[in-house]
Amino acid sequence: MQIAVPKEIKNHEYRVALTPTGARELVGRGHTVTVQAGAGEGAGFADAAYEAAGARLEADVAKVWDAAELILKVKEPQAEEVARLKTGQTLFTYLHLAAEASLTRGLMESGATCIAYETVTDRQGGLPLLAPMSTVAGRMAIQAGAHSLEKAQGGSGVLLPGVPGVAPAKVAVIGGGVVGENAARMALGLGAEVTVLDKSIPRLETLDDRYQGRMKTVFSTADAIDEAVRECDLIVGAVLIPGAAAPKLITREMLAEMKPGSVLVDVAIDQGGCFETSRATTHTDPTYIVDGVVHYCVANMPGAVARTSTQALTNATMPFVTALADKGWKQALADDAHFAAGLNVHEGQVTYKAVAEAFGLEY
Ligand code: NAD
Repeated sequence: MQIAVPKEIKNHEYRVALTPTGARELVGRGHTVTVQAGAGEGAGFADAAYEAAGARLEADVAKVWDAAELILKVKEPQAEEVARLKTGQTLFTYLHLAAEASLTRGLMESGATCIAYETVTDRQGGLPLLAPMSTVAGRMAIQAGAHSLEKAQGGSGVLLPGVPGVAPAKVAVIGGGVVGENAARMALGLGAEVTVLDKSIPRLETLDDRYQGRMKTVFSTADAIDEAVRECDLIVGAVLIPGAAAPKLITREMLAEMKPGSVLVDVAIDQGGCFETSRATTHTDPTYIVDGVVHYCVANMPGAVARTSTQALTNATMPFVTALADKGWKQALADDAHFAAGLNVHEGQVTYKAVAEAFGLEY
């Protein structure tokens, strides 16, 4: 199969959809891999490494797209990329269509088969191609929070682990899923005093069991959040209600209860944010201050650690990529119902229920 890997063009996106290791695997299976020159640079993968793996390098973006049967990307296609897509091509990437009417329309008009990373499922009811990025974002949340607590960033000047004779910082993580567990685990590793709040008792049981009581687990109520707001130096927002905007769990009024220079890291910002005062920021200017509280609300946190994120993402996507390449999309999806859940658009039709419902389209 002819497989193409374009260079990502979304602002500040440095990841790439295939590593040289992945290219070698596909070439070894008899496929032709064309990588746009410079596509891996941002993630630390030189053109020469792709060439050594047996891939073809192509400088002309039009040629990269034109000959491809399967296109591998990271971010949703931008307008100029949608214009290059055509009937008969398969696109495998993050799409997040439910909030993107014009992209959905563009993909329908392209006639291409579009499979979204984020809706592929697994046997445990998880989202295996979303989880690696949640893991990255959760771990980064504490790094970002610790930095934001420094005086020069407007923070209170508290060091997360404290030092002998000085108590460690208090960290609360609201939402104990993939992001939340990874954030809590990092905070614990740094020596902070950690509380995780979740609405799911089974989830709290798992965390309690896994960490043997080293982090406090608390059922998430308005009272429990009030307490965290009054006491904590750093609060991480990591809630998710699938298919819905994040609930606003900390209001502007509540900021007055926080210690001056405390920090809010809203990882759920890509779902609208779970703090009333959150607004999306970028890696270039990641924080702002409201009522003395530092807010970090970067919507694409994994992009900052493009090398780790690329490796984590491609580890998860590779089995699906090889299935698509070896069998073609039709057979690959027919053989695996969890993979089939990734199909969002095919030959002009939306094939994913939540996306069709979001736009009142036939399903
Ligand atoms: P997840 O489904 O694994 O976990 C979400 C948890 O939130 C669940 O355990 C759920 O029970 C809990 N929850 C729901 N309502 C709650 C409430 N009122 N109080 C406390 N807990 C509540 O989801 P995840 O993969 O951890 O993702 C969390 C959020 O992080 C999502 O919005 C996701 O899109 C976002 N995310 C953002 C970035 C970024 O770069 N900003 C990167 C990855 C993920």
